[in-house]
Amino acid sequence: MSIPNPTIAGLRCFNHGGREAVAQCLECTRYYCRECVTAHGGRVLCADCLGHTAVNAAPRKPVITMAWRGLQLVTGFVVVWMVVYMTGRGLLWLPSEFHEHLIWENEWFPNP
Ligand SMILES: [Zn+2]
Ligand SMILES: [Zn+2]
Repeated sequence: MSIPNPTIAGLRCFNHGGREAVAQCLECTRYYCRECVTAHGGRVLCADCLGHTAVNAAPRKPVITMAWRGLQLVTGFVVVWMVVYMTGRGLLWLPSEFHEHLIWENEWFPNP
């Protein structure tokens, strides 16, 4: 995942004393072996810091998602309401003869 850093050669993993460190965590600046670090969002983090990041980020995401869902719901409701409203207005705009089927007889198809 990460390129072995020559400056940390000889250093040992913080969790595994017997293993050689291959990467430094960007959060806690401790050194870890390949097994203990993961690349998260382009940053190398140890399991501990990854957990902290996930805990800190977790409560924020659902709030944004719920707000977005709410906005979508309101927008959808407004759109549906406008369609129904405009349809109603359109029907009201039509002369009453249209609804009573008299327009066909009186204006467009006059009786001889
Ligand atoms: Zn860390
Ligand atoms: Zn390790």
